[in-house]
Amino acid sequence: MRILAAAITSTALLGCASTAPSAPEAATPAAPSPNIIFMIGDGMGFEYISAYRYAMSTLGDEQLAKTPFDDLLVGAATTYPDDDTWVTDSAAGATALATGVKSYNGAIGVDTNQAPQRTLMELARDHGWATGAVATVQVNHATPASFFTHHPSRDLYNDIADSYATQVANGGWRFDVLLGGGYDYFHRDDKNWLPELEQQGLPVVTSLDDLAEHTQTPVMGLFAPKALPFAIDDKPGRLANMTTHALRLLTEQSATKGKPFALMVEGSMIDWCGHANDIACAVHEMADFAAAVQVVRDYIAEHPNTLLVITADHSTGGLTLGQGGEYAWYSDKVNAISQSIEGIATHLFDVPRQQWRAYVEDKLAFRLTSKQWKQLGEVKLDKELQGRDRLKPIHQVLVRIISEHTRTGWTTGGHTAVDVPVMASGPGAEAFKGYIDNTDIAKALLKLVR
Ligand SMILES: [Zn+2]
Repeated sequence: MRILAAAITSTALLGCASTAPSAPEAATPAAPSPNIIFMIGDGMGFEYISAYRYAMSTLGDEQLAKTPFDDLLVGAATTYPDDDTWVTDSAAGATALATGVKSYNGAIGVDTNQAPQRTLMELARDHGWATGAVATVQVNHATPASFFTHHPSRDLYNDIADSYATQVANGGWRFDVLLGGGYDYFHRDDKNWLPELEQQGLPVVTSLDDLAEHTQTPVMGLFAPKALPFAIDDKPGRLANMTTHALRLLTEQSATKGKPFALMVEGSMIDWCGHANDIACAVHEMADFAAAVQVVRDYIAEHPNTLLVITADHSTGGLTLGQGGEYAWYSDKVNAISQSIEGIATHLFDVPRQQWRAYVEDKLAFRLTSKQWKQLGEVKLDKELQGRDRLKPIHQVLVRIISEHTRTGWTTGGHTAVDVPVMASGPGAEAFKGYIDNTDIAKALLKLVR
């Protein structure tokens, strides 16, 4: 497997070497390095883009709705980890995308021997570039963490936060702009980093309004205790907003330094909706991510020396559009749903059962059949359980009801091994063409950092 991956890499690199095709390693284009904007839809398999496109379109119209993804598609990537499975997690996936090295599930920027691997952001920083990341989950979650830190396990949330909060050996921070959730990891009982960070010249902002006023780097923005709410339950445009400000701050800094910047933007919670088997939630996260892609495309129209690469670390949930033998997927019914299943279940858990029906039918915007209502009525609740576990019985029934009603299929609450889309535009985009491996994406990006 590894030999095959290496062969594909060298072919891909040959394709982009414009001067000396016999020695791709020596090929050095004369043009200045482009800015790199790497956007990762966590869990965003092709099926999520299909769902989003149909949800934006009207059945019967002559044309499908255009999405900011369509004309960027250049190929597909395999995502398997270096582990005893074909199915990757987000840590191994992000480590491959950040370093070009496959690793075990759970690995944060380390190889299978737990040796730290140099990441795209570290290489960029070493070359004087400005660097940053934006995510809708906590900034110390697997994907952003794998671009800036090295840890044997993604579960070491406090250690990862400590890495972000500690200056590197030769002074300075690992990033110039870091935006997302995760306030609670920097303000813990055992350690409150906030005064120290402020004192050392790393301000932490906690509202998007404050970020809009902010003109200096470095800066860290922590806009939620842990993850942000699901997009379907939140104010619209949060990822687009954070991306706008990250681009503003990085452009400013990169002009001062006379060097490009590298920015990673993660649509983090597409994956979480996939784990929850919640189709309306997933479509809203896709819309949130698409809005951020549009922000980046508008930026690139003004700053053409910018390479944009968009991919996913894996797909999630085994989503299909069509279920139960019927030739249908009801995008209109998906669009009418106005709250996440988690949000509905959280509400139901705390209110008397006689209030359930009105609430559910309001949020789902359809009438339950008597059989479905009976299933929901028979749910047993355990007040002793905590967090998502206590919601599980309600959640499972709601998934079944929504799946039947919208004809959405799910095969798992975990990830899948299907190939994911690769999109690219701008200088160097030809390196991402065709059928490649996730590590090839990182290898091609690393080559552009000079
Ligand atoms: Zn996941």
